[in-house]
Formats: sequence, C-alpha cells, structure tokens
Amino acid sequence: MDSEVARRLRELPSVEALLSSERLRVLRDHYRPEYLSRLARSALQRARAAVRTGSEAPSLEALSEWVLQALAQEAEPLRRVINCTGTVTHTNLGRALLPEAARRALLQAASSYVALEYDLERGERGHRDRVVEPLLCRLTGAEAATVVNNNAAAVWLALHVLARGREVVVSRGELIEIGGSFRLPEVMAAAGVSLREVGTTNRTHPRDYEAAIGENTGLLLKVHPSNYTIEGFTRSVELEELVAIGRRHGVPVMEDLGSGALVDLSRWGLPREPVVGERIAAGADLVTFSGDKLLGGPQAGIIVGKREAIEAIRRHPMMRTFRADKLTYAALSAVLRLYETEPNLRTVLPMLQRMTWTPEALQERCQLWAATWRPRLEPGILVAVEPCSAQIGSGAQPTARLSSWAITLRSQTVGPDRLAAWLRDAPTPVVGRIEGERLWLDLRTVADAELPELDRAITFLGERHREVSSGR
Ligand SMILES: *Cc1c(COP(=O)(O)O)cnc(C)c1O
Repeated sequence: MDSEVARRLRELPSVEALLSSERLRVLRDHYRPEYLSRLARSALQRARAAVRTGSEAPSLEALSEWVLQALAQEAEPLRRVINCTGTVTHTNLGRALLPEAARRALLQAASSYVALEYDLERGERGHRDRVVEPLLCRLTGAEAATVVNNNAAAVWLALHVLARGREVVVSRGELIEIGGSFRLPEVMAAAGVSLREVGTTNRTHPRDYEAAIGENTGLLLKVHPSNYTIEGFTRSVELEELVAIGRRHGVPVMEDLGSGALVDLSRWGLPREPVVGERIAAGADLVTFSGDKLLGGPQAGIIVGKREAIEAIRRHPMMRTFRADKLTYAALSAVLRLYETEPNLRTVLPMLQRMTWTPEALQERCQLWAATWRPRLEPGILVAVEPCSAQIGSGAQPTARLSSWAITLRSQTVGPDRLAAWLRDAPTPVVGRIEGERLWLDLRTVADAELPELDRAITFLGERHREVSSGR
C-alpha cells in the first residue's frame, strides 16, 4: 500500500473516538450502544473506501455528519416519497392514499380496544365482517360480503371453496397475468381447480362455454382484463349471457373484477370501469375486487355475492390465514362510509382528486414551478413544461390515458438516469419517469403540501449537477 494512503487511513478515528465526538456524544442517551457502533463502523468503512480510491481522509466533523444522516434515514424504514410518475395508483409506491376519515379510524383502532369481533348488544362474540358487511351490501346490492387481505387471496379462496377438484371454465382471452407473479392459470392450479379454457384469444362465444360444461364443471369464471385490451375482430361473452348459461346448467358464475369501482367514474369524465353493483345486478354469484385500487381504501380483497357462497368461504379453515386485521377493518369501513354518505366524493377521496385534476390547472401549476426552478437549474439543466399522459394505474383502464402536464428536465452534461438518481437521493426522495432523453416530473400526483419539499429536492439536484459539471 502506498505510504500516503496508509497515513490517511491511520488518521481516521476509532469507532469509540467517533462516537465520543462533540456532535455524536448526546446520541448515547437515546440509542443502544450496539446500534451506534454499527452506524459508526459503516461510516468508517465508507471513509476507508474513499481514501483507498485517492480521497483525503474525511474530518471528524464530516464523519459525524454521515452518522447523523444514516440515523435520519434509518429512523424512517418505510421512506416517504414524492410520486412524480403520473401513475395515480402506483403499486410499487403503496397504492391508495387514504382519506382523512380513514386515517382517523386507523389511529383510533391502533390505540384503543375496539369491538372487532364483539357484539356490544348481546355482549358476546361476533364476526369481524359485521363491521363492513352491511355497508358493502348496501353499496353493491349483494346479499353478503367478506373481506380478506388482498384480491389475490379473494380469488384463490373463492376458487378453492367453490370449485376445488372440479373444472373452472375461463375464456382464453381472460387468462391474465398481472405484475408480481399473479398468473391466473397458476393461481387456479394452486387453488386445486382445473382450468378449462374456452374460445380463442380474441373471440369467445356463448356456445364455447355451453360446449365445455359437463358433470365436473364447478364454476364459470369471468376475469376483468385489467392490464390489456383486445381490439379488432373480437367477441367476448357478456356477464349477463354467462349468468344465463350458468343458470341453465346449475353452475355458479364468479367475476374477478380486479379494480372494482363502487361508483361510475365517468361521472367525473374518467374512463368507465365496471361498477361492482352492476355486476351483482347482472346476476354474478360472486364478485371479487381490491380495496386499494379504484376504491381508494386500504389493501384488502373484497368478496360480495350470494349468502350461501360467502358463508361457505367464511367457514373454510383457510379463511383464517387470509383474515384482515383491525386496522384494515377500521380504514375500510371509514372509506365505505364515505361512499355511502358523502355528497361530494371528489373533495374527500385523495385518489379521486388526483384522477380528476384538469389539464389546464396542471399546466398552470407546472408553469409556475418551472419558472421558480429555472434560475436554479439553467443553463446546465434545461427546464420545460410539456403535455404528457398520466394513468390511473394498478389495472384500471390500462390503455386509457389522463391528459396531464409535466415539468421536464434535460441536462447538457449527464443523462436523465443520473438526474433521476439524484432526485431519489434527495432528503425526501422524488420518483419521476424517464422518456425521450428527459426526466419527466408529472405534478398530477403531487399534493400542494409536498411542493415545498419537491422544491428543496430540485435545489439539491441543482447542487449535485453543478458539482459534477464543474469536474469535482
Ligand atoms: C389487481 C388484480 C388482482 C390482484 O389484486 P391484489 O389486490 O393486487 O391482490 C387480481 N385480479 C385482477 C383482475 C386484478 O386486476
């Protein structure tokens, strides 16, 4: 080893000396010694690596700062991020933002005993579905309802309970795969049902279902194509037709709706998504959908439909492994109550607010912020305001786009991936989208309260860019 490098390495303090430094000493009153030692060791490791690649040894002051930064980051294991992707319901960013009423209900359930499985009138044990079932029945017209951890669990459980050891008939055009390894044929195999595919990719007729029904048919399944559309020469069998076929042969019909809106979104000028109540009215025996997609509630799988089928699901021994906790019931019931009582849903549901921003308002917002960012970023980074298309996300209307506006950033010296990485490294990480050599920041998914933080992240980006561009 070069003697200069060796000298610099020797200059670095010990773990003990670093933790006794002016700024870090006080931490000892608040954190376990083993924890602080780990932070100090990793700061020193980073310093040694830097020295070996030719840097000066960082000062005690700088090392202390690294420890404090690591502490601040680790204090929030689930990091809050600013979503500038333009995808309103982003599965990787945690899906729905809950309305105020649900946040309050969560806090109360978290900090108090609640009548979750307790019937207060009779003073005896009750079922936890009592909390949401009446609401779900009124909102969808179904006879009964139950809740599990997510829609994937709802689909598995419903298939398993209704048709284990039997055939489930599905159109070839509906054998979906959604992100994160949910592939319908595999879910069906795991649920112990046999898949009976009918029709072709683009066309399935009522007669295809009729021909497939036999002694061992347990269920006719319809699946909402959440993340693709089939266009051109197509034919699919409407739910009403499928229900008529099922009735004729005495076979139940289930629909996996995926997103599952409780109200018609076209009321707000949004693309039309199937509404759960309409599917129940069309005669489906069971409908499954997510609590945290279009509904805008907590992660949950909701199963509504015929009482007998719901009760069979509820009684099944595996039900317990999919059971949702009190926090889910608290948040979900608060959101459902808003659907029942609130005359102006758009003002209370954060997701609906984000879906319904007008392009004009977004354009104005982008222009305003672009003007304040320009002096900090130009000439190194070009700032523009450009139209773009946002999406609802998580399998609602995959091809429909919401027209939106974004601020785009293009550096003269580094690629957009580099700009994106710096924004992710900002004190509040910002997630954008890269397209056509620019970084796109869509403001549709940003709350007013987040704008000052986004602004600080931009300052941070500008500083990083100048450091690199000036060759440091
Ligand atoms: C999203 C989706 C699922 C899975 O729902 P999760 O809530 O993610 O578990 C199942 N089926 C369809 C059609 C979907 O769109």
